[in-house]
Amino acid sequence: MTAVPAPDIEAEWTRAVKALDAASEICLACHIRPDADALGSMLAVAHALHARGGSPRPRIVASFGDLPFEIPAILRFLPGAELLTPPDAYPERPQVMVTFDAASADRLGLLQASASAAGELIVLDHHASNTGFGTVQLVDPDAAATAVLAHELIGRLGVEISRDIALGLYAGLITDTGSFKFPTTSPRVHEMAARLLATGIEPGAVAHELWERAPFSFLGLLSAALGRAVLEPAESGGHGLVWTTVTRADRAAGGLPLDAAESVIDVVRRADEAEVAVVLKESDDGLWQVSARSKGRVDVGRACVALGGGGHSRAAGFTASGTAADAMAALRRQLAGDAAAGPAGGMAGDAADHAADGR
Ligand code: 5GP
Ligand code: MN
Repeated sequence: MTAVPAPDIEAEWTRAVKALDAASEICLACHIRPDADALGSMLAVAHALHARGGSPRPRIVASFGDLPFEIPAILRFLPGAELLTPPDAYPERPQVMVTFDAASADRLGLLQASASAAGELIVLDHHASNTGFGTVQLVDPDAAATAVLAHELIGRLGVEISRDIALGLYAGLITDTGSFKFPTTSPRVHEMAARLLATGIEPGAVAHELWERAPFSFLGLLSAALGRAVLEPAESGGHGLVWTTVTRADRAAGGLPLDAAESVIDVVRRADEAEVAVVLKESDDGLWQVSARSKGRVDVGRACVALGGGGHSRAAGFTASGTAADAMAALRRQLAGDAAAGPAGGMAGDAADHAADGR
């Protein structure tokens, strides 16, 4: 068997820092409908670039490709909203562009064309399924979060970690490690967390913002979704499947945005009888945003990639049109095939396993 040569990551870091040093314009972008790792990593690097200055001082732009351009409610506590620019005001041909937590160019949404036209495209990511769309690939499937790579970049840029930087990185790290519970939680992860906490940020306050608060109407949404959860013990190759939906009507009843439904999967996946948990969230335009989680024996990343989505072996998702029943039928077929092929089947073997729970 011929080993695929590992990319020389050190050479990539050197190229990235050189490109950023020379740039008069640096445009940052994270994936659409950003989670804490995507937005937190991007804002941390935005704060660092602003703090770094330079002469002449480069222009710094940061965005994500959604219109309407709204920061998910749960992430509004992150400092740096004033550093963001809507995607319709984003440069069409950035001199240097840096992407965060996007496994493929289409995850940049409206900013995909800018990425194709960028002079240099630096990709910071930790998805084993990353398509290699950058000119500089800072992709480490063993990294617990993109925040780990953003932390490394900030260090290499010689910027001291401020509280604002630490908050973004910590939010990404704690989210993608499932509050330091997933198998990616290495000693290095805790060392990084220690350095971030040393700036004085409060872990309890971050956890409160991310998981311990919601409007009262969220309780009604949760109740509706859990009330129609279905357990299918024979699915996922006999390992069990539990799934439910959060409909537009559920959200309308509580006046809730789509991102309010994000934590429903964390309750659904507790069901012991199911190896795989799935929540289908109906967006305002009637599409289904599907979130899938595995406890390790089934590779949901591969199943979701096969359905046009992406993710990791234990946490993945895809977008479907049509009915929820159709989306579930397609997913069941993929999961059956995947369970038969074994957990480390298609993706990048060990790397996919290590990337495991990260988001
Ligand atoms: P979540 O279920 O938390 O939204 O996402 C879990 C993982 O699946 C993340 O790595 C996320 O990037 C990926 N993911 C979720 N939805 C989609 C999708 O529609 N397309 C792609 N490519 N990846 C997705
Ligand atoms: Mn991530």
